[in-house]
Amino acid sequence: MVKINPDRLLSDLRTLRTFGTYKTGVHRPTYSDIDMQSRRWLVERMTDAGLTATIDGIGNVIGRSPAPGPKLLLGSHVETQPHGGWLDGAMGVIFAIEMARAVAEDPALQDCGVDAAAWADEEGHYMSFIGSRSFIGDVTEAEIDGVESKHDGTPLRDALASAGLAGLPRAVLEADRYLGFLEAHIEQGPTLESMAQKIGVVTSIVGTWQYEIIAEGIQNHAGTTAMSLRRDAGRALIKLAHAIDQHFPEIAAERSVWTVGGLRLEPGAPAIVPGLARMLFQFRDADPRQLARFAAAFDDLVAAVAADDPCSITAKQLSASTPSLMHPGFQDALSAAAEQHVPGLHQRMPSGAGHDAQILANVMPTGMMFIPSIGGISHHWSEDSDEADIVIGGQVLATAVGDILAKGRA
Ligand SMILES: [Zn+2]
Repeated sequence: MVKINPDRLLSDLRTLRTFGTYKTGVHRPTYSDIDMQSRRWLVERMTDAGLTATIDGIGNVIGRSPAPGPKLLLGSHVETQPHGGWLDGAMGVIFAIEMARAVAEDPALQDCGVDAAAWADEEGHYMSFIGSRSFIGDVTEAEIDGVESKHDGTPLRDALASAGLAGLPRAVLEADRYLGFLEAHIEQGPTLESMAQKIGVVTSIVGTWQYEIIAEGIQNHAGTTAMSLRRDAGRALIKLAHAIDQHFPEIAAERSVWTVGGLRLEPGAPAIVPGLARMLFQFRDADPRQLARFAAAFDDLVAAVAADDPCSITAKQLSASTPSLMHPGFQDALSAAAEQHVPGLHQRMPSGAGHDAQILANVMPTGMMFIPSIGGISHHWSEDSDEADIVIGGQVLATAVGDILAKGRA
């Protein structure tokens, strides 16, 4: 059985936390000086682990194993959300390096190897998943030309140049090098903790469909415009949000979620009937049929509210990602490993959050594993997990990795 070294794993994880410490969390935006320092440190750690490590032209850190036999690719992301947590992404990257070391130390797997990856900008300071998408050949140079920072508008090209990455080649997946991809991550939700379980085996990563809805009315005086004569764009969209919340529970699946994440009224003053309103709306589910059901219901609700309101209402779909199914064989390997180390304390579950695994799943068998998040908190500096749970997760992953590699020889 592949055995991790818990002290070595935790020590690396704690060191990574020192790059951009903010309170008990980390502030490490993609391509910032501190982010690049952490990536260069990862190159050192991967090199020490016996991998040939480089940073590519989009900021991916990739360490390649010299093993001649079956190989797995493991990894996650290393940048954080603004004032984010210390484990989101970081844990999966350090797990990948520890797996490379643990497999190299296992006498029974000397022909096998693990490549480790820290993908760039999963968190979307510039563009979500740009590193993993680049690796699977899904990002053109023209797309890079058009991207800028969501915080301050810095062009991605300038950020890459400041980070010393301009002109470097972008790593591209070699067909047939891997049996597949595995990512470990904190759950970022309360399910495992609330059920006193230690491991979540991800079945699928949800699809997310996003919309922008614009209502156009007539801006007017809030004191002199009679209610019957108003074309109140704000009221139109609030009616729509209410209609969604009335109707969606009737058609929702068990883990469906939907969110009005933005609502802006123009000009936005107490004494003015809003002439323009903009709403941002999304829903998520792991089942494509459920997403289609929500989309049809949403279109109907927009039409119904528009028919009944003096404002004009238009809805535009901003994005529609498809759910990614995790590989059944990898799910079985993770479940079997969890059953070995924490019998009965694991479950299969969809991921409500997006992860690099959903990108890699487009091109190879992919599996994903969660450990519990304390209080279900993430995308916040207070995010944390029990160290004992981190170690359990590492050992479960190592056992699954060993199992998949050994079977990959056949
Ligand atoms: Zn993450």
